[in-house]
Amino acid sequence: MRTYTYEVGDIVTLKKQHPCGSKEWEILRVGADFRLKCLGCGHQIMIARRLVEKNARDLRKKA
Ligand SMILES: [Zn+2]
Repeated sequence: MRTYTYEVGDIVTLKKQHPCGSKEWEILRVGADFRLKCLGCGHQIMIARRLVEKNARDLRKKA
């Protein structure tokens, strides 16, 4: 597990891909739970921070 500093607007790449085929998610909210938006289809999910940390492959900081 790598440690990233997660901020709203960053793009996180997760290990598992969404059914739409995308693995990239935009971070909409951080905290104990994150709100993520799929870049492929726009679907939004709430996910525990530890699951994001466990499954993150990459993090692109907001430009
Ligand atoms: Zn999707």
